[in-house]
Order: sequence, then C-alpha cells, then structure tokens
Amino acid sequence: MSVNRFGEETRSAPGAGAFRSIGGWVEQPVDLQPTLEGDISADVIVIGAGFAGLSTALELRSLGADVVVLEREFAGFGASGRNAGYLAGSMGVEFEFFLKRVGLEQARKIVAFYDEGVAYVERRLRELAIDCDYNPSGIIRAAVHPSQAHKLRKGMELGLELGSVTRYLDEGEMRARGIPPAFLFGCTQHGGTLDPGKYVMGLRRAALRAGVRLYEKTALLSCSEGATATCWTERGAARAPFVVFATNAYTPQLGLLRDKVVPLRVSAIETEPLSAAQLESLGWPGREGIVTPHWTMESHRLTARDTLLITTKQLGYAYGSRTPNEPDEAAYQALAQALNDRFPTLSGLSVRACWSGYISLAYDALPVVGETGPRRNILYTAGCSGHGVGTQSLVGHLLAERIGGIEHPLLAALRHKTPTTLPEPLQWCAIKAALGGANGLDRHLNRKVRDAAHD
Ligand SMILES: Cc1cc2nc3c(=O)[nH]c(=O)nc-3n(C[C@H](O)[C@H](O)[C@H](O)COP(=O)(O)OP(=O)(O)OC[C@H]3O[C@@H](n4cnc5c(N)ncnc54)[C@H](O)[C@@H]3O)c2cc1C
Repeated sequence: MSVNRFGEETRSAPGAGAFRSIGGWVEQPVDLQPTLEGDISADVIVIGAGFAGLSTALELRSLGADVVVLEREFAGFGASGRNAGYLAGSMGVEFEFFLKRVGLEQARKIVAFYDEGVAYVERRLRELAIDCDYNPSGIIRAAVHPSQAHKLRKGMELGLELGSVTRYLDEGEMRARGIPPAFLFGCTQHGGTLDPGKYVMGLRRAALRAGVRLYEKTALLSCSEGATATCWTERGAARAPFVVFATNAYTPQLGLLRDKVVPLRVSAIETEPLSAAQLESLGWPGREGIVTPHWTMESHRLTARDTLLITTKQLGYAYGSRTPNEPDEAAYQALAQALNDRFPTLSGLSVRACWSGYISLAYDALPVVGETGPRRNILYTAGCSGHGVGTQSLVGHLLAERIGGIEHPLLAALRHKTPTTLPEPLQWCAIKAALGGANGLDRHLNRKVRDAAHD
C-alpha cells in the first residue's frame, strides 16, 4: 500500500508487465485472413470487424449479398474485443443528455432500441450457437454511498417514464442476494454479462462460415464516392455500390464524422483468479454485473474464469481525436483504488492484466447512424458509447435492412440531428474540464465512503 497525492491509501499500480495492448479477452486468430491484394468487387464493403461490422456482414449475407469486410488489424481488435462484457439495455443510458433534444416520443423509441439490443444479442447467440459464457443475471446499478440515492432514483423515474424496465432493490434485498456489502442499494435492469472476446470471435467464425470475405491486416486508406464506391488499401482496391463504416471510435481519423463523435479512452483491470475461499467469502452467487451511479461510473463483475474485472472510472481523451494504443497508468491506478475500496477483504489479490480501448461519444450521447455521399450509399454507425455490446450488434441488422431497401422503425427512431463538436483546441479544453470535474466529484464521494468505513 502507498498514499497518493489525494491522501488516499492505494495499491501499487499494476505492473508494466500487466498491460495488454489487445485487451484481456482475445489473441490474434491463428487463421488470420489474407491481406487484400489487387482489385475486387462485391455488393457491399464493410470497414471494421467489431460487433457492428460483423453483424452487418452476417445480416447482409442472410439477405443474399456478396460481402467484403476490410479490417485494419484482426476481427475483435477494437472495443468489441476489449470491453467489460455487460449486455445492458436502456437503464443507465444518459437520458438527460437527449430527452430535451429529441422530445418524449422519440426518446421512448430510442429507449426501445437500447432494450431491443439485449433481446437481439440473446437471440443471435442462440441462432449462431455462440458460447460466450453469457450469464443472464441482469445488471444492478448500485450506490456505494447514501448520497447517491437521489441520482439513482431520478434515473429510475426517468427510465420508467421512457419505457425502461427496472425495479428498486433496497439494502435488505441486496444483502439477501449476497451482493458485496460495498454496494448498498440499487436498481435492476435486464441483460447480463458475457465474455466479449468469445462473442466477437464467435461472430467472426459465423461470418466466415456464412461466406463473408474477410480481409485482415487490411486498413482502409481512402474511399471515393460514386454509384460504385471504391475503398483503397495499401495493396488493393475493393469496389461496391454500398460501403458501411463500422469503425466506431476510429471513424474521425478516416475523415468521416470528425465533427460528430469523440473517441474516449476506457480502461479495465482484471485480477488473478479468486481462490475458492475468496469466492466463498465474497458471496455474490448470481454474479450480477454491477455499475455505480458515479459521474464516471465504476463497473465491477466476476468473470467465468473467476477473476474480478473493474472498468471505466476514469476516461481519457487524446488531443485531435487520436486513438493511441498505449497504457493509461493513471486510469489503472484509479481502478486498482476502486478494487481496494469496494473489496477490502481481497486486499492481497493482484492485477494480472490491464488494458484500454476506445468508445465514441456524440455530445448528446446518442447513436450516430445514417448515410452520406451524393448517392447516400456510404453508411456509418458510431456513438453507441459504452452500450455497444447490444446496440452495435443490433445496428448491423438495421443497416442490412436499409441496404436491402427497408427502413426499420428503430433505425427511423435513431435519426436526429447530432450536435456538431467543437474545433480543437476548444474540444480538448472542454472535455478535459468535464472529465476533470467528474473525477473531482467522484473522488469527493469516494472519500466520504472511506471515512464512513473508518468511523
Ligand atoms: C474498456 C471498455 C469497456 C466497455 N464496456 C462495455 C460494456 O460492458 N458494455 C457495452 O455495451 N459496451 C461496452 N463498451 C463499448 C463497446 O465495446 C463498443 O461500443 C463496441 O464494441 C463498439 O463496436 P464496433 O464494432 O462499433 O467498434 P469496434 O469494436 O471498435 O470495431 C471497429 C473496428 O474497426 C477497425 N478499423 C479501424 N480503422 C480501420 C481502417 N482504417 N480500416 C479497416 N478497419 C479499421 C478496428 O481495428 C476495429 O476492429 C466498452 C468499451 C471499452 C473500450
């Protein structure tokens, strides 16, 4: 233990050896698909092979389309292979960011979109026979201090008004469920937790099986519009009447949505597996995924490999919307502190892996899904922020139908005017100030929790 500059007792930061540049769930596939060489054509070209790109490709294949996917690294390299694995519906979505902007009626439809994301993934796991350790335990948004009651209740009320399904859990019910005692009271939402690496690799396998032509280690360099769009790569070109950008947080670097979405770095730490005695002492038999109502949430879950995974807590932004694939020691330190604070009985448990990845966020926190170009044949999906396990999977279905000529009502519900982002350096200043303010408020609350524990 040591004391940091805020006077907090901390675990030592996870060692440099714990950093994993591709996240903690996936490895580069042994059957890496070829790099694109030469000229090819297809009905649709999808850029990016995460949940969004692979879902779109699979749905298009089932409509009979010839689909090419271009992936800069390997399928699952982005946020889809690095996330916390919460398959979560609408509760916990930042309703207040968009309610006034879109009005009650559209907000209800957007909430239905988030909830449908859960049902969609559950159905696809069955249909595609993907085993990814899905535990449909539900997710609990749980307070760690009594002063979070107001925020939690307000979120619940707004959620219920918009059609979310949720229920309050008082302290008695939390203890009866065996939820660790740091989490005082909360509210439920449907969904559960899964292994995102197994999920995305399951989608990859299904896509290959279905005849999707996947090119890995193939970065899109530029795309020219027209009735037939051309996607240029280092050693080849792919042409098609439709292109789908499923590059999420990396999209602004490609010259698209630069003024609509902001990449934010999200970090995670994973402990060594808990011993049988540690698991026993923890209780938590349902292994519900837990998120907190901090200004920047903490999320805590047990994995199927009996490790504890702690994510978020501290977000990062790199000037100019860059996405460097590098460690964020300050975030890992903050997450280690959260591990210490919420699970004091596990103080000897070491961190075996830490990693970071990028989500994309619009200023109104809503998905950014639509089309562009003179022919409206360049489609995109981004901005599902921290809810992409469900939503970015479902978007694949909506985009495939749109290409097939059908506007799904949920796609129609997502259409709205996304606010324009600030130019640099204003954006950097504004985001740093907002994230710093949120961290300050959360630190103050965490100090109160620690003080109460020592009284
Ligand atoms: C640490 C962390 C925790 C999270 N936890 C959760 C959670 O618990 N629940 C939840 O719902 N969401 C969570 N999220 C968010 C969720 O992971 C994302 O919203 C989702 O994975 C986005 O999927 P995607 O397919 O749109 O993008 P990505 O998975 O990022 O895929 C984009 C792909 O595009 C590729 N690419 C980029 N540039 C190019 C190029 N030039 N040419 C070709 N390919 C390119 C990338 O390599 C990448 O594979 C978390 C995210 C992070 C980082």
